[in-house]
Amino acid sequence: MATDKINVDVLVVGGGIAGMQSALDLADQGYQVMLVEKSPTIGGTMITLSKVFPTLDCASCITTPKMSAVAHHDNIQMFTYTEVQSVERQGNRYIAQVVKKPRYVNENICTGCRKCEYACPVEVPSVFDQDLGAYRAIHVPFSTAVPQVAVLDMDNCMLCGKCEKACPVEGCIDYEQKPQEIEVTAKAIVLATGFKITPVDAKAEYGGGKYPNVISALAMERLLAPTGPYGHVLRPSDGKEPESIAYVQCAGSRDKSLGVPYCSRICCMYAIKQAMLLSGALPLADITIYYMDIRTFGKGYEQFYQNAKAMGIEFVKAKVAKITEDENQNLRVRVEMMEEGGQVEEREHDLVVLSVGVLPAYNPEAVFGVPVSSEDNFIEIPSPNFEPCNTGFPGIFAAGTATGPMDIVDSIVMAGAAASEATAYLHELAAAENGGVTHD
Ligand SMILES: Cc1cc2nc3c(=O)[nH]c(=O)nc-3n(C[C@H](O)[C@H](O)[C@H](O)COP(=O)(O)OP(=O)(O)OC[C@H]3O[C@@H](n4cnc5c(N)ncnc54)[C@H](O)[C@@H]3O)c2cc1C
Repeated sequence: MATDKINVDVLVVGGGIAGMQSALDLADQGYQVMLVEKSPTIGGTMITLSKVFPTLDCASCITTPKMSAVAHHDNIQMFTYTEVQSVERQGNRYIAQVVKKPRYVNENICTGCRKCEYACPVEVPSVFDQDLGAYRAIHVPFSTAVPQVAVLDMDNCMLCGKCEKACPVEGCIDYEQKPQEIEVTAKAIVLATGFKITPVDAKAEYGGGKYPNVISALAMERLLAPTGPYGHVLRPSDGKEPESIAYVQCAGSRDKSLGVPYCSRICCMYAIKQAMLLSGALPLADITIYYMDIRTFGKGYEQFYQNAKAMGIEFVKAKVAKITEDENQNLRVRVEMMEEGGQVEEREHDLVVLSVGVLPAYNPEAVFGVPVSSEDNFIEIPSPNFEPCNTGFPGIFAAGTATGPMDIVDSIVMAGAAASEATAYLHELAAAENGGVTHD
């Protein structure tokens, strides 16, 4: 296999909002950036959200222009469906071996027309829609994916050839496509590999993964999104409009038994946001949030909480012990009421949303040498007060939720800080190497 070689100033790993922002900030200053994203599209979790707190802006409307800016920037080379296999330091440079996985579609000539998708007979659960909907084995990941290029899920492909016949571009579908190896030389690296949610079945007593009407908050984001799987908020078991919806807070955070002792910081706000959006989508539905503490720490966030209460959303300080399902697939939620002397009550809801927590998506230690914190497994930052993005490895910086739970505002701020710390490092490097000229 021939290895391509690419020389850049900065390698950014992860194409969520943090990685995109770091890449844009560096590229706008004239640095050459390579952005590597493991999924077939950039955008990260933010592009899957419905609306975002605290402004209730449409997530897709504000994320898509950033994705597009990354894809069209002269100083950014974007590689999706690509992962870094190994990194070695040679002098003042990092040499990274990067592999672009086969899409079985020629990225350079695919027009994103989706004719292959319409012809494909195989349905697979949609990762984008949190498995609530389906797409075809060959598909463009979603309508605003960047790049607008199809990807073939070879594990589920029957090799029937229908996509190849339907494709108007000759030679675009390539069942024989092989991985592409690329050797990248970079002066600095930004790690922005993001987060994943605690699995919905992590707490067996809540019935996630077992009862169809117990869903994760990320699944609720898709139900609320205008581009969601059903086009409306319906419960998964029978397509009924839910009349009573419960949120279980800290269902995957502040829980030593799960190995997640820390607060995930975003769950109170996203639950309040979703409850407000549900009040609009289902005006007659009762919405209850069972919580231990409400932590609304950001600017304007407390007011957001007060507005939700004023809208009639019920906040109940209670610990949820167990959830069971009745013969109609309604859910019986057993709660210990914390403000009523620990009295135990059983309440019925027809949809339960677990406010799942935040876990690191990737451990960079094996590939980049950068360790993670023994407390929470997010990337270790040795001097968080003074250099919040510096990993302590020369020229390697970190941004966004790869370093710990945070919201979009903080992810963007940190991405800017990582770009700024990387710029200072590149200036020093240039001064040491060639008397101050910073760009090749
Ligand atoms: C249910 C829910 C609702 C939310 N609602 C809001 C809200 O309303 N407002 C708000 O401010 N915040 C909200 N958030 C938080 C918000 O989603 C995050 O703050 C934000 O997405 C973090 O961006 P990021 O770039 O750090 O990480 P991510 O979005 O996780 O992006 C990381 C990217 O890196 C890629 N990646 C991972 N590992 C590798 C690797 N090894 N190589 C290459 N690429 C890799 C991933 O595929 C991903 O694309 C919500 C979160 C959840 C779970």
